[in-house]
Amino acid sequence: MAGEILRLGAEVTAWRPGDRVAIQSNLFCGACEFCARGEESLCLAATLLGVQCDGGLAEQVVVPARSLVQLPDDLDFTTSAALTLAGSTAMHMLTRRVSVPAGAWVLVIGGASGVGSAAIQIARGLGARVVSTGSTAAKRALALRLGAEAAVDTADPAWPAQVRQLTGKRGVDIVVEHVGGLLLEQVFHCLARGGTVVTCGATAGREPTLQLWPFFVKEQRLVGSYSRTRKDLETTLAWAKEGRLRPVLDRVLSLADAPAGLAALRARTVLGKVVVTP
Ligand SMILES: [Zn+2]
Repeated sequence: MAGEILRLGAEVTAWRPGDRVAIQSNLFCGACEFCARGEESLCLAATLLGVQCDGGLAEQVVVPARSLVQLPDDLDFTTSAALTLAGSTAMHMLTRRVSVPAGAWVLVIGGASGVGSAAIQIARGLGARVVSTGSTAAKRALALRLGAEAAVDTADPAWPAQVRQLTGKRGVDIVVEHVGGLLLEQVFHCLARGGTVVTCGATAGREPTLQLWPFFVKEQRLVGSYSRTRKDLETTLAWAKEGRLRPVLDRVLSLADAPAGLAALRARTVLGKVVVTP
């Protein structure tokens, strides 16, 4: 979410009412060993805003001041809100958990998703060549518009071979994965020697099988990624201000129409973000 500061706690001195801000919605404690070294995504006492406490489907929300990030001038609330969660998650994956050398091949799973659509743009911005997956023609077309040079259909069992073909049989250097299950097993068939799979989700299954022999013989890596830090959020918003990262907006709704937005998400009829503007 994003908005303006209305009121401040008595001990808050770094902000003023009217300041335009985004929120690091994984509310970190600011005191544990990981927070102390700036690794807020590893906080031992984090609370998820909107899950464990009331979130952004409201006109006002209360958060710790330490979770605020300043919005760049000229960056509107809709763009900011649409990027602060999935966009910053992709930024954390591609700039903090792995490094993407210019010219590297990056496979982005689900290029039309929130994480995927940002990951395509970020990988391209870092100079990578991007291949994406998409389960419908519309999703694959979106991935191409965002900067992927090819998009394959995961409904076709031959899709990992198609990715290898696209990279001259070499395989990709990095896979941005957020689905889990069988898909996490399949991406290793697309991965080059020395390549890295970075993953931040497991909606399709939490117990994939890992073929250890090719994994260590090819000196590959599987890297976990979770949430983001304020620094990642600042970087995401800076990219948005520069026009290097744009959210994919499906629709913008009033607060009263939020239930219709949730229904559309459940029915999977959404391509991009649903933004609610209370
Ligand atoms: Zn902490």
